[in-house]
Amino acid sequence: MEEPGESGVRVSSPKHSSVGLEGITESMRYTLEQSGPVRGAKTLLALNQVDGFDCPSCAWADPVPGERKKAEFCENGAKAVAWEATRKRVGPDFFAEHSVADLREKDGHWLESQGRLTEPVYLGPGEDHFTPITWKAATTLIADRLRGLADPNRAVFYTSGRTSNEAAFVYQLLARRLGTNNLPDCSNMCHESSGAALSETIGVGKGVVSLQDITDYADLIMIVGQNPGTCHPRMLTALEQAKKRGARIIAVNPLPEAGFGRFHNPQTVRGLAGPGTQLADAYLPIRVNGDLAFFNTLNRVLLDREEAAPGTVFDHDFINRYCDGFEQACEGWRNVDLAHAAQLSGLSRRMVERCADEVMAADSVTVCWAMGLTQHRNAVPTIREIVNFLLLRGNVGRPGAGPSPIRGHSNVQGDRTVGIWEQMPDSFLDKLRDEFGFEPPREHGKDTVDSIRAMRDGEVEVFFAVGGNFVAATPDTAVTETAMARCALTVNVATKLNRTHLCPGTEALLLPCLGRTERDVQETGEQFVTVEDSMAMVHASHGRLLPGSPELRSEVRILTDLARELFGEDDLDWREMGADYRVIRRHIEHVVPGFHAYEERVAQPGGFVLPRGPHDSRTFPTETGKARFTVNPPTAAEVPEGHLLLTTVRSHDQFNTTVYGLDDRYRGIKGGRHVVFLNEDDLRMFGVADGDLVDLISVYDDGERRARGFRAVRYPVPRGCAAAYYPETNVLVPLDSTAETSNTPNSKSIVIRLEASE
Ligand code: SF4
Repeated sequence: MEEPGESGVRVSSPKHSSVGLEGITESMRYTLEQSGPVRGAKTLLALNQVDGFDCPSCAWADPVPGERKKAEFCENGAKAVAWEATRKRVGPDFFAEHSVADLREKDGHWLESQGRLTEPVYLGPGEDHFTPITWKAATTLIADRLRGLADPNRAVFYTSGRTSNEAAFVYQLLARRLGTNNLPDCSNMCHESSGAALSETIGVGKGVVSLQDITDYADLIMIVGQNPGTCHPRMLTALEQAKKRGARIIAVNPLPEAGFGRFHNPQTVRGLAGPGTQLADAYLPIRVNGDLAFFNTLNRVLLDREEAAPGTVFDHDFINRYCDGFEQACEGWRNVDLAHAAQLSGLSRRMVERCADEVMAADSVTVCWAMGLTQHRNAVPTIREIVNFLLLRGNVGRPGAGPSPIRGHSNVQGDRTVGIWEQMPDSFLDKLRDEFGFEPPREHGKDTVDSIRAMRDGEVEVFFAVGGNFVAATPDTAVTETAMARCALTVNVATKLNRTHLCPGTEALLLPCLGRTERDVQETGEQFVTVEDSMAMVHASHGRLLPGSPELRSEVRILTDLARELFGEDDLDWREMGADYRVIRRHIEHVVPGFHAYEERVAQPGGFVLPRGPHDSRTFPTETGKARFTVNPPTAAEVPEGHLLLTTVRSHDQFNTTVYGLDDRYRGIKGGRHVVFLNEDDLRMFGVADGDLVDLISVYDDGERRARGFRAVRYPVPRGCAAAYYPETNVLVPLDSTAETSNTPNSKSIVIRLEASE
């Protein structure tokens, strides 16, 4: 276990190539360690296969059925399923041996590496050890507490992105049947900014590009604020396919990630034994939070070129027919102070001009992005500016073109689609009323940050989470942990032990559920679930392994049993939904647009795609019925003298808050996570040497926050910027530091200063 300030970390130079043989050996090492050869092989050969299960890790799309490889997974996918399919177990003996106080001394990696939870456990008021409880008693207890609430809005129902469509639909129905829209989810912390910006400008809150658009059609692919090599590794295969047919790739990121360099595809001889494929044609080392300024400058450069040679740059047919707000946007760009914008972006005019050359040489442009764009105060204006950039040359609604936010969790998009959102539109709530015959609550509920505020202020009695690691994923860790403890009851449905489970309310329950890899047998037989990937493909996932314990229950079963206990047997068809997931899908078909003939279409190999109006037919369901240009003057986080702008990142041995290991081999880090990547000139300026231990201190209106004992690592980050891993640095982000409009925590731009560790 790693202690802050305990710098056993070994540092070497960052890599400029990805995957290769080491990708295979790492996947195998991990699988053998956790699952063993037979179980491991069975799991990997079913991963992302048509009749297998969907990877519980990121939401990258699968190739069409006939094009899938036998080994259709990446190293991090292999780690994710090995992590879930581990033979290690956490049962009553473990909790008898370890008190909550002991376990709170352990780090996240240690906790999750103890193994799969085997049966329900309960922590009573004032107790320090979880003890076994029956499912019946646990369900009854929760129902009693929920029924006892004076106001259903004193309950919060949190969802992590691994929850299936079926479980998510039942979950939102349960919360709304109780009378609340308090349905925060991990999307609040990741792509909420994308949803807000895209809904406003093109009318749909998600990406509209398909995998084939990237592999077969896009002439230029821009990867902005995303690290595909670690966070969506199979994307590298798609990028290689695009390169092979002549596509160009531009990477825009403060860190020169290995995934932009040479891709050694382990499924090819060229990749394993040959030179591999250089992916990025250009890398723009943008300053942290410099993206709004960059896209403003790029659009201005394109405008200047258009005005110099009218009709040669902009797609006026598209603009006139499908867009509004164009003139105002142009006026906005004419007013951009380019010198100031260059300061904010850290990119020279020459770099932007060369990028504009690439754009003009491309008939179709796709822009992909992830958290590097969405977790900033100005995230929503930044993404609107990217839409402006795409609209100028008609790069929406034709093959190879459009906005593509890449999701970090396997079904975070699906959960939102089937109703997990604290502010679902009336159109959805009306359908729910018509389908189930009750009036759902209309008042918007609490998102993640608002839920923490309410818990902190004693306004929440019951916190219920399906999956996830709430206190590790959220900002202001110390505040969130204290807020959790103010709840009367905390309930976590989970596969493995994590930090959140050790921040109990007065009472706490830990309910072990089936994993995505495990067979799910209910009254009517074996069930499958469905998920939606980043490209709006809905497909089936069939568990293959025997459950890790006879006491495990599916998320659907846990929720329908609770609903039956809470609302009574003669309320809605909860029992039928728990016994046969087709009943749930039929309800989804009636309530959620785009799911017609759900059962038949999801039975097709690879499933089906949900409607993507802007892409499929240049239909823009915005307020004006047109794609909307907007004006987004360049801004960026202000960094006082003597301070740095910190961005939080994942290591290569990590998926969201799950830490598989303490290495980050692409960045040259081994054996530890308390590291901070710093520019060598900043090291000199702050009198810090590579290898020194420093504390990171964030300074906000409500005071200082400190993260202790980080080893300074000289690294090619832009001057004035720094990077370090989350969740270790989430403690530095105040609850109130959120993005405009989306209320997403500003975890990617944190103003800090350094202090030598004591
Ligand atoms: S790219 Fe994402 S979804 Fe695919 S195997 Fe890897 S982690 Fe899983």
